[in-house]
Amino acid sequence: LPEQEAFDIEYWLLEEAKLQRMPKPKALAGRVAIVTGGAGGIGSATAERYLSEGACVVLADIDADALARTQDNLAGRYSKDVVRTVQMDVTSEDGVAQAYADMAVEFGGVDIVVSNAGIASSAPIEDTTLDLWNKNMSILSTGYFLVARAAFQMLKTQGIGGSMVFVASKNGLAASPNASAYCTAKASEIHLARCLALEGAPDGIRVNVVNPDAVLRGSKIWSGEWLEQRAGTYQTDKEGLEDMYRQRSLLKRSVLPEDIAEACYFFASDVSAKSTGNIINVDAGNVQSFTR
Ligand code: NAD
Repeated sequence: LPEQEAFDIEYWLLEEAKLQRMPKPKALAGRVAIVTGGAGGIGSATAERYLSEGACVVLADIDADALARTQDNLAGRYSKDVVRTVQMDVTSEDGVAQAYADMAVEFGGVDIVVSNAGIASSAPIEDTTLDLWNKNMSILSTGYFLVARAAFQMLKTQGIGGSMVFVASKNGLAASPNASAYCTAKASEIHLARCLALEGAPDGIRVNVVNPDAVLRGSKIWSGEWLEQRAGTYQTDKEGLEDMYRQRSLLKRSVLPEDIAEACYFFASDVSAKSTGNIINVDAGNVQSFTR
């Protein structure tokens, strides 16, 4: 090699080695995320995943005590400047609008919206009261609509695009026994996300869906009436249910909140810049999906 060329190559290799040693910029640095149901199992795991990638996160939840516990839990690892909480009921039009307004003041806007707040409550159809049906529709279907509408208003005003992630459910695609209210509400979330992917695309707003299969560990849903209802339907207890879900998965593994958080991270980050209106099922390969 001519002397100058050899020198250039050596110089380039040294510069490359220096770059390799430099800390990589975090994938969500400078972004602001709101996670509804942020005090729950999947919501808090998702918030933590985003924080670990440098995002500022607002945890929004109806449960003030659980919010305080979640913030205390994160306090040791993340500064109060990057993690905030807001008590918010996703079924309240004014409450949702106020949460976004506060976020605009505190963080200057929003880039990532995770619609995740939810309940699980169902019964055989003949025992499904109008109240039970409406409760599912109001928190899951209407709640996702209100959070999305406010998000679109803010994202379109900002004019720099954004990412919405809907945490729906495998039950929004597949029927589950004695759970028609929940399954129907979850199906509406998935369809809403796909409609909004269509509407948001011209403004660079991506909308995608993460469908968890049963996540028994860490989820508050699985300690109350839903647990009792599912245990009754399948004639087993919590351990038996977890084993049943594990056994029906191809990978024979339980799905954890952190697994859902990873899919929520994928859709929030630029790695998925060309995905919208898409669904990731996090179900360890649910056998039933392969046999219908
Ligand atoms: P979780 O109960 O641990 O968390 C849900 C959170 O939503 C709670 O902190 C709760 O206080 C909050 N919430 C409920 N109603 C609200 C309201 N009106 N306004 C604001 N916040 C409200 O449950 P999770 O397992 O973390 O569930 C999160 C999401 O994932 C839900 O939408 C759920 O339907 C969905 N999902 C869960 C599972 C599972 O097996 N855990 C499976 C599929 C889908």
